[in-house]
Amino acid sequence: MTRPLLNSRLAEFGTTIFAEMSALAARTGSINLGQGFPDTDGPEEIREAAVRALRDGLGNQYPPGPGVPELRSAIADHQRDRYGLSYDPDAEVLVTAGATEAIAAALLALVEPGDEVIALEPYYDSYAACIAMAGGTRVPVTLRPHEGAYVLDLDELRAAVTDRTRLILLNTPHNPTGTVLTRAELTAVAELAVERDLLVVTDEVYEHLVFDGAEHLPIASLPGMRERTVTIGSAGKTFSFTGWKVGWITASPELTSAVRSAKQFLTYVSSGPFQYAIAEALRLPAAYFDTLRADLGAKRDLLSEGLAQAGFDVYRPAGTYFVTTDIRPLGATDGFAFCRSLPERAGVVAIPNAVFYDHREAGAPFVRFAFCKRTEVLEEAVSRLKALSA
Ligand code: PMP
Ligand code: GLN
Repeated sequence: MTRPLLNSRLAEFGTTIFAEMSALAARTGSINLGQGFPDTDGPEEIREAAVRALRDGLGNQYPPGPGVPELRSAIADHQRDRYGLSYDPDAEVLVTAGATEAIAAALLALVEPGDEVIALEPYYDSYAACIAMAGGTRVPVTLRPHEGAYVLDLDELRAAVTDRTRLILLNTPHNPTGTVLTRAELTAVAELAVERDLLVVTDEVYEHLVFDGAEHLPIASLPGMRERTVTIGSAGKTFSFTGWKVGWITASPELTSAVRSAKQFLTYVSSGPFQYAIAEALRLPAAYFDTLRADLGAKRDLLSEGLAQAGFDVYRPAGTYFVTTDIRPLGATDGFAFCRSLPERAGVVAIPNAVFYDHREAGAPFVRFAFCKRTEVLEEAVSRLKALSA
């Protein structure tokens, strides 16, 4: 066979950086600040709720296609109570196999071959692959470092829209930069979407991880946006159960139905018993969410300060559980080479941000560290990293 086995749409993607770097961490016994997953599980009572569901025979067989009613109403209540957004749990909520499937299903459903999809660069790696699988063309709009933060250039965004643009794929709080888009920025994006009649798919999996009193604002709540926005959420980050893969979308009946058309042929359904447990998790008291935020905020400070002391330039994140750094003060310019040698040099694993860029050179000197780890693990990582500049 002379033809390559992997089709040309996927050929450029290789193995995801998360798998590569977690394998490197395991192989070298390094502290894994690469792939974003917590090293402690979420609330005990939610684990127990999953056990109870399993024992009670809830969700052990195929759950309903749109998700179990308990979870769909908990998601609708969450959007209403948090953001004043009202969604009909039957027609406007769809449970997915994590946000990953929601992203895939939304793009496969809404993008026609040849359509352009605007994504904020650096972008989460599955966006590019899913746009490609849908036959779309990705059009990156680059968030640029400016005075210690990453900023969206609204003129650049406007200029990126063409007659072929189908949708804008947003992500706020933003992985990997930690940027939380402001009301003013989101309003400008919304006005552009309305003016040019674009859809918006917005990945809000880090909605609860915002610090320093910053507020997460769903773009669906802005004028003219509810009917053109697919909002994506996930239990993975909010409840520290990334392996359960419970995600969801909220959107108008027409958009939900379109996304469901694609989703039904991907997994059909998933995570049966876990759906019941996450329905309970979404109804945890406000104190749970406040404690999560305070805990991660303290870890953000610990790691950001430690990285600065170790000689990195640090982009202190307003949200997510990642901190992006610039390695140039350490005399390095190539994030890939830096991350590949970091286990040997310091016993720590991180992610080179260049993988999240089309313009690889724009991302070359940036490296992402995750701080969703136990305090003592972060302290040990910092002390090892300080050896880099010693
Ligand atoms: N979107 C972003 C921005 C992410 O960082 C991740 C990784 N958690 C996902 C989506 C995937 O989420 P899930 O694990 O729910 O599939
Ligand atoms: N979202 C996680 C991250 O950015 C990784 C999830 C995955 O491995 N696909 O680190």
